[in-house]
Amino acid sequence: MAETKIPRATAKRLPIYYRYLNILLDADKKRVSSTELSEAVKVDSATIRRDFSYFGALGKRGYGYDVETLLAFFKKILNQDTLTNVALIGVGNLGHALLNFNFHKNSNVRISAAFDVNEAIANTVQSGVPVYPMTELKKQLIEQQIEIAILTVPTTVVQEITDDLVDANVKGIMNFTPLRISVPETVRVQNVDLTNELQTLIYFIEHYGQQLGET
Ligand code: ATP
Repeated sequence: MAETKIPRATAKRLPIYYRYLNILLDADKKRVSSTELSEAVKVDSATIRRDFSYFGALGKRGYGYDVETLLAFFKKILNQDTLTNVALIGVGNLGHALLNFNFHKNSNVRISAAFDVNEAIANTVQSGVPVYPMTELKKQLIEQQIEIAILTVPTTVVQEITDDLVDANVKGIMNFTPLRISVPETVRVQNVDLTNELQTLIYFIEHYGQQLGET
């Protein structure tokens, strides 16, 4: 697919549009206006029109958008018609939880291979996902064409594993450790620090909760 440079905020809204358009399709709706869409997904209609214009999907005045055409379009952009395999490194508490959760119920993303240095867990199947020893990391990622990896390993080893992932041509890393990892420009990192998120929430409640409640 040709590279479409879309703003990050727009990219984040795509799955929301996609989900709602599917609901419309199921309800046999043929078309939708940006105003209708706006009310349903709680995004203002000017933003919706601007978002859609990035993809060249322009609604017709007085008609709105064709639901099926839009869906086909987003499906392609979101890669929903192909399954994206993801690797998980570190099958500890958090890793296990993610394996159990797996993502395929809600999307076409799934963890298809897991890796761990612990010999007790390597070469077993956990929540339906095979766990490989770390010695097989590069070989499996390349063979299975996996380009996305989730890191749920201790912080002490996260950078060395990142380097191995880069070496195995991984393009995206979801980092669940609190450590900021270094990667070349060609690799994208998404940091998810759950402890930090929770502490931020508590901080805001403690410092601004009262004022917010009053306004
Ligand atoms: P969590 O942080 O998910 O709660 P935990 O407390 O169960 O995990 P950690 O010590 O954080 O355990 O390790 C997470 C997982 O990462 C463990 O299963 C551990 O065996 C694995 N692990 C540790 N070092 C490495 C490594 N060098 N390569 C791959 N996996 C590793």
